[in-house]
Amino acid sequence: MRSAEMDAFVARVRDASDILSVVASYVPLKKKGGNYWGCCPFHSEKTPSFSVAPEKGFFYCFGCHAGGNVFKFISMIENISYFDAIRSQAEKLGIPMPDREKSEKDVEKERKIADLQRMMEMAKSFFHNCLVKTKYGTAGLQYFAGRGIGADVIKEFGLGFAPSAPGKLRDAFKKRGVSERLLLEGGLVAERQNSVYDKFRNRVMIPIADDRGRVVGFGGRVLGDGQPKYLNSPETLLFNKRRLLFGLDRAKKAIREEGKVILVEGYMDAISLSAAGIKNVVASLGTAFTSEQCRLLLRCTDEICFCYDSDEAGQRATMRALSIVRSTGARVRVLIVPDGKDPDEFVRKHGADAFRKLLKEARSIGDFHLEYVQRTNDIRTLDGKNKALKALLPVLKESNPVEQNEYIQRLRSTLGIDEGIIRQEIAMYHDDGMRAEYRPRAERPSVRTVDDAVRRAGRALLRGAWHDPGVAVMVVAEMGEEPFPYPLHEKLLRYLAECAETGHSPSEEVIEETLGAEAEEEISHALIEEVPEKKDSYEACLRVLLLAQLRKAFEESRLRADAMEREGNSNFLQELSKSQRIKQRIDELNQQIKTEETNE
Ligand SMILES: [Zn+2]
Repeated sequence: MRSAEMDAFVARVRDASDILSVVASYVPLKKKGGNYWGCCPFHSEKTPSFSVAPEKGFFYCFGCHAGGNVFKFISMIENISYFDAIRSQAEKLGIPMPDREKSEKDVEKERKIADLQRMMEMAKSFFHNCLVKTKYGTAGLQYFAGRGIGADVIKEFGLGFAPSAPGKLRDAFKKRGVSERLLLEGGLVAERQNSVYDKFRNRVMIPIADDRGRVVGFGGRVLGDGQPKYLNSPETLLFNKRRLLFGLDRAKKAIREEGKVILVEGYMDAISLSAAGIKNVVASLGTAFTSEQCRLLLRCTDEICFCYDSDEAGQRATMRALSIVRSTGARVRVLIVPDGKDPDEFVRKHGADAFRKLLKEARSIGDFHLEYVQRTNDIRTLDGKNKALKALLPVLKESNPVEQNEYIQRLRSTLGIDEGIIRQEIAMYHDDGMRAEYRPRAERPSVRTVDDAVRRAGRALLRGAWHDPGVAVMVVAEMGEEPFPYPLHEKLLRYLAECAETGHSPSEEVIEETLGAEAEEEISHALIEEVPEKKDSYEACLRVLLLAQLRKAFEESRLRADAMEREGNSNFLQELSKSQRIKQRIDELNQQIKTEETNE
């Protein structure tokens, strides 16, 4: 996997990346001294202990010890792999990946995807222009106006209109050199009796983008009574409904800021809510919520609020969706819009504040289930009670003990089932359905570590060695083969010394891969500390390390000598003189330190 070419690529992407602006797009930062500070996005805190050192290209949190370079940050906050973080950053900066060996088939597929993407962008402007610039669009504009959608929202979402004549788009695109085959492959036209005609006709058009904002397909709502009411692009190379969430590209930022996402059924719901100022909304495109979609959301937040239609179909869909999410560890709430309305209708009639109030009152997953099974089972009969209990077992099983206890009490009183029986059913229940496939980003614990002079000195040496690996060579030579007082520092300093000897520059990727995340965090910690340089002259720091190493060696040697003497081992005198030599060395070092202190 590693190659010189790849290393050069990674270095290029890193050099072009500005860690400060990347981090600042997720975390509000304030300058203090040479570094920037903010509240850590990886653990909860009220006072900032998360800091970024832009010139050094590192971040470090003094609370949970998360740390690393710009790729590490992206991989942690987006919940993606380190390599995907490099790739995504490269794409953002327009730096091409080094070509691996591509088969002809790969090349062909890439070309097709690029062609399709261009065509989809063209189609978006075509439909949009039809809506806002031609006479065909009048009906579409009226429809949007009737739903309270004005010019600004039309522009923001790139909404459009597909005229009713069967070949408007086909003819316009053919004139511009788009082949019939590509039109078919992109699902913009359909075939009938040896000729092709526009797939979307007399519909208002909603462009559907992937999570990076690239148009991959369309949804169209028919005007009048035509069928089907809603028509989506067919599955294509670009358009995979299972992996798309309408609006995610533009809602991402708001989702992160609000710490939760509102999931609705239809794109009109998402557009209406967004138009009303509620921006952390995505739509699952009218299909069943999938585990792929769940994973996309969990990259941005761990709290999902389901807001499906309040009719029976919507509530059934909610139950199904909840079973997808249940084992992911996401926090889930269910918002039920009153009076049988869908979110679109509700927000238009009552406004954003009323919707926000509903959001605050959203039910917990357990409450929702409890209400649902009571509504859908005749709990006056024994059979109904049994079915209701069975339906609830998966939820009960996964609740924490406090919640579980509360539900049990409520079940006991509503169903009239004996508490002991409920507990027994829970204990016997085995969930063989969903496995915990996806986990949201786990909250890191805040760890208070004991810092001491030895660790501080080690970090000062790491800081020096990072910029000048020659420092590492000196340290390693002086410390010799005996273990360093702090093993993590030893690993890092030996690696940096090796870099100096082989002429390689130190690589964050190698540290991450071979020395582990802890090593990367320690390097970040070292680099981010702002220590007045005078205080940690490398020789002084080295002496601290040496002293700690020698004291440990002395202690061990003395204990060995004692034991040998007790056992009558004749080598004990030898060991004793060894410990004396170590002691002497310690005294010398202490003397040296004292002289220097008085000289200062
Ligand atoms: Zn933290």
